[in-house]
Amino acid sequence: MGSTLRKNQAVRQAPGGAPPERRPPAGGAPKLREGRRGAAAGTSRPAVSVRAKQTGDHERTLKEHKEEDNPQRTMEVNGLRPVPASYDYDLIVIGGGSGGLAAAKEAAKYEKKVMVLDFVTPTPQGSSWGLGGTCVNVGCIPKKLMHQAALLGQALQDSRKFGWQFTEEVKHNWMTMTESVQNYIGSLNWGYRVALRDNKVTYENAYGEFVGPHTIKATNKKGIEKLYTAERFIIATGERPRYLGIPGDKEYCLSSDDLFSLPYCPGKTLVVGASYVALECAGFLAGLGLDVTVMVRSILLRGFDQDMANRIGEYMKEHGVNFIREFVPIKVEQVEEGTPGILKVTAKSTAGDQMIEGEYNTVLLAIGRDPCTRKIGLDKVGVNINEKTGKIPVNDEEQTNVSYIYAVGDILQDKLELTPVAIQAGRLLVRRLYAGATTKCDYVNVPTTVFTPLEYGACGYSEETAVEKFGEENIEVYHSHFWPLEWTVPSRDNNKCYAKIICNIQDNERVIGFHVLGPNAGEVTQGFAAAIKCGLTKEQLDNTVGIHPVCAEVFTTLSVTKRSGENTTVSGC
Ligand code: FAD
Ligand code: NAP
Repeated sequence: MGSTLRKNQAVRQAPGGAPPERRPPAGGAPKLREGRRGAAAGTSRPAVSVRAKQTGDHERTLKEHKEEDNPQRTMEVNGLRPVPASYDYDLIVIGGGSGGLAAAKEAAKYEKKVMVLDFVTPTPQGSSWGLGGTCVNVGCIPKKLMHQAALLGQALQDSRKFGWQFTEEVKHNWMTMTESVQNYIGSLNWGYRVALRDNKVTYENAYGEFVGPHTIKATNKKGIEKLYTAERFIIATGERPRYLGIPGDKEYCLSSDDLFSLPYCPGKTLVVGASYVALECAGFLAGLGLDVTVMVRSILLRGFDQDMANRIGEYMKEHGVNFIREFVPIKVEQVEEGTPGILKVTAKSTAGDQMIEGEYNTVLLAIGRDPCTRKIGLDKVGVNINEKTGKIPVNDEEQTNVSYIYAVGDILQDKLELTPVAIQAGRLLVRRLYAGATTKCDYVNVPTTVFTPLEYGACGYSEETAVEKFGEENIEVYHSHFWPLEWTVPSRDNNKCYAKIICNIQDNERVIGFHVLGPNAGEVTQGFAAAIKCGLTKEQLDNTVGIHPVCAEVFTTLSVTKRSGENTTVSGC
């Protein structure tokens, strides 16, 4: 490590554009690390030294740092002048997921010396994975592929009406699906490593933790610790599934972090939770032919348009998913070991004292995710977190209260937890830091799709929030059912697909909310999201010529307002 560093430092530009000659002598940075490592070994409180000269103890340094959020001053109070060019790296990114990798690769484009630390703490069931973070390994990618597996099952049924004949019994093999999905994920993990190497970004498979100003400790899975310094840091450590805190939860239950690589078919499954992760997983498991029950504490898809959320619930119910409403588990016991075994779940009503019991092969907890911010030494450098949620508040430039530490992705307070948001925020942040750009990440009107069996695409306000913000009299809701042509021949699900836009009457009927339930909802929503970003109005939608015969054309012909109470059902496409 030391020799690589010295070699790199000799040829690279110093952070902040300082000329190379302002860098410390070649041995400077390694000595800084050595001094700290020695001190840290016994006490885990590193002494602070600069250019091999002891500057003060950790406590004093931290005190000074907290009193005034200025790391350079920390060195000054210890009798030394600031040494801005003495860091090992220009930028260290903690977390190699969607946001972290995007930021690191972008920074490398501007010839910055960048390191990424990524480390996956195994789940209570022992699952772990490679580089790339949640989306690639245990999120968007395996979820969408398994959703596709379920859709193919439906397509097989439809295909008979289109003339396909097959005599063999149609069965689904969990292991074949999981292996194919995991092989694809493996190729992505490899691709990320290669991309980092090609971009000359140093990657360490190690857990990052701040130990003092501008200094991080990286611990690998063998427990070997190294200290690194950087001028700036980006925290992109993401979130991990929450557990219920009841007897048997960590021992017997799975989370989405385990499901996508499960080496056996989960069988009869209880999904606890009612948001994105819960409904998507319940949807594809049921689509693969499993007996699935969703235990809902309160409402479906909190935060989403509830009219749409309830339609999703109804569709899932009609397609075989059981719902237990207003109950929460209080105990999970093992009845029988096995893969899968049998678990007994005791649940309590949230509306009264009623208790129920049920037996399942698998219990999947999807009750939300907690940010990975509490064990990364943020207190050592004075970064504020929301004590209740663990989320990190940042300004509109993704900067924390400590000026040289930034944060992106799922750990941010009051921001959306979506892969493209993390990527966009990471890229734009780095362009502002190193390329003189000024564009900030726009967290408004971000489109999203819930990949439930009936997919749901949305952008902008839900009906409830639009009413709350603008007043019912100031919004016009246009809506319609539609029947995808592909579904007519197999006589499937008429009047389930639904389109709705919310317009601001006071602003030229500008479209402030877009909602669609139907096949390929994400594909449909993406284009309209671009139009909404450009200020789309109802008149412009009406003046747009549709494409026939596709689902999205319904948005060019919406004429019924919700206020009118007129019928929106359809009898043909
Ligand atoms: P992550 O991608 O979670 O990356 C954080 C990385 O940091 C991880 O590798 C973690 O192990 C590592 N790490 C944590 N602490 C440390 C440390 N101290 N040192 C070193 N490394 C550390 N979003 C969508 O847009 N579309 C979807 O369809 C979608 N589906 C999803 C389905 C599921 C089941 C889940 C759980 C999420 C889904 N998401 C989806 C959300 C999406 O995955 C996240 O928004 C996105 O991954 C956030 O990126 P991030 O960079 O903030 O964090
Ligand atoms: P979430 O949105 O925080 O929802 C948590 C769910 O669990 C809610 O239904 C909540 O019910 C329930 N719950 C919480 N505590 C519970 C308890 N003790 N007992 C029973 N139920 C409980 O979490 P998530 O679904 O894990 O999603 C996390 C984030 O990942 C989302 O915000 C989303 O941005 C992202 N994501 C995106 C996609 C996508 O883009 N398609 C897919 C998956 C995830 P209440 O309503 O009663 O609180």
